[in-house]
Amino acid sequence: MDAHSPDPIDRGHAHDVDLEDTFDFLNTDDTESGFPVERLPTLDDALTWFVDRGVVHLEGADRVRVQAAGDEALMARDLARVHAVRSALREVALAISEQRAPAIGSLDTINRALHARQVIELVPAPDGVSVDHRHVGDPIDDALARLADPLVTELTDGRPERIKVCASETCGWIFYDDSRTSRRRWCDMATCGNRAKAARHRARERAAGRAAQAAAMPARGSA
Ligand SMILES: [Zn+2]
Repeated sequence: MDAHSPDPIDRGHAHDVDLEDTFDFLNTDDTESGFPVERLPTLDDALTWFVDRGVVHLEGADRVRVQAAGDEALMARDLARVHAVRSALREVALAISEQRAPAIGSLDTINRALHARQVIELVPAPDGVSVDHRHVGDPIDDALARLADPLVTELTDGRPERIKVCASETCGWIFYDDSRTSRRRWCDMATCGNRAKAARHRARERAAGRAAQAAAMPARGSA
């Protein structure tokens, strides 16, 4: 790590997680060409993702890895916790975007995760008082609470109506519509939206081509 770009994890105790991170987490439950793709298939993948996003310290991740090493049941339970909170958050985001009540169980799961969040404490500092964050849960609990937090903030303080699901049938990503008119339908206009449009355009071209062919060769029937 170069000295000019301090590791965000080591910047005091401010692990900043924003809604983008939360949605990125939800979108690790991915879809490719209409088929589900798990981007966090192992506990190790999940921990690596958490460390990359600064919601778990490297030492915390290593501690979990050591604990789970050789204990397949524990490893499976840890990974199941990650997937359970992710699908509960996803369910809530979907419910918001579809303006319906979420499944009851999903709220219980998220609320349990939120209770494992860090605790803020005042601690003495050489030049006065500073704020410290005590971690109460294990690193995974803590990461999940952090990732749930921006969604809660958006619900209480933000624009939850801008939480949307990509209109592409083969995408399904959750995204935040920050467009001026709040009428974005695709997770990313530059890629997903254009892909969807391009696919429709190609389908129309093909249909038009077939129609033209059929019109040009009526005697041959449908070859
Ligand atoms: Zn999309």
